[in-house]
Amino acid sequence: MIVRYSVFFLIGLWSSLVYGEWYTHDDSAMGTVVRFEIWHESKAQAEKIFEEAMAELNRIDVLMSPYKEQSELSLINKKAAESPVSVSRELYDIIDQSIYFSNLSRGAFDITFASVGFLYDYREGIRPKAEQLQKAASLVNYKWLKLDPVHHSIEFKKQGMKIDLGGIAKGYAVDRVYQILVAKGVKHGVITAGGDNRLIGDRRGRPWVLGIKHPRGEGYVLRLPLSGIAISTSGDYERFFEEGEMRYHHIIDPKKGDSARSLVSATIIADDATTSDALSTTLFVLGAEKGIELVNQLEGISAIVIDSHGKVFYSDDLQSD
Ligand code: AMP
Ligand code: MG
Repeated sequence: MIVRYSVFFLIGLWSSLVYGEWYTHDDSAMGTVVRFEIWHESKAQAEKIFEEAMAELNRIDVLMSPYKEQSELSLINKKAAESPVSVSRELYDIIDQSIYFSNLSRGAFDITFASVGFLYDYREGIRPKAEQLQKAASLVNYKWLKLDPVHHSIEFKKQGMKIDLGGIAKGYAVDRVYQILVAKGVKHGVITAGGDNRLIGDRRGRPWVLGIKHPRGEGYVLRLPLSGIAISTSGDYERFFEEGEMRYHHIIDPKKGDSARSLVSATIIADDATTSDALSTTLFVLGAEKGIELVNQLEGISAIVIDSHGKVFYSDDLQSD
């Protein structure tokens, strides 16, 4: 009798431990590559979860894309210099959060970079002429964004200003997908959109291993064992063109209106992907010294940056000595 019950118990324990499979979904959304990997008991349900996650990414894109004429963000860019534009609570909150990161970094992270950013086309190799750049760069300053928390409205204090959430929106989207997956009972998984990742639990008894891409070659410069955390990397190799020795890429130093060039890669590990995304872009602009100094002051945030000479810098919590 005891033997029989023990066998049933063991079979039950075994099936609850191994019953399930890894399911992956590769796709694209928000102008970047998307990958989900989850452990689930049912293929049909995993596919349904992926469908819901993709719908969420596309919903956020429709709200926040600067390329979609009908997006709420485009509406702000069209109208906010004339009068305050009321927007959804969701868009208002992410703009408000962007300003938090601007204040934290004294303007290194600044969604009004778009006032000059829209003059670059990295695919076509187009950049503004000096005079054009100077004029547009003078419109970059988050302090000219006026937010009304009662009406959830946004106003521009200067004509010609623009905003773009490219430095934070993908992280936000990854966090939203994380919430959906966790609510569906997913206990182990990875959500990736471009350089932004969030991990659900571990890889069933082992950590996930995420790599920091080699900024100039193939493969990875570092591999990190991680669980239940968010990690984002910003790099100058993502979207760029070159003229002679000079690389023009998509992360803009708001002070210059030109690409930030002291780093080639900036990685942030944080509890959520909105934070890791915004701070990776921020550190890319701040550079090694100021960037690491900022992260050392923040609780629960780690950083790994690579400068243009290939030297790697770590936040204090990752230093062994
Ligand atoms: P990421 O890959 O997360 O570093 O994001 C890069 C994107 O951030 C760019 O494509 C721009 O949309 C946006 N961006 C560029 N420069 C800045 C900046 N100084 N502050 C905030 N967002 C920026
Ligand atoms: Mg970022």
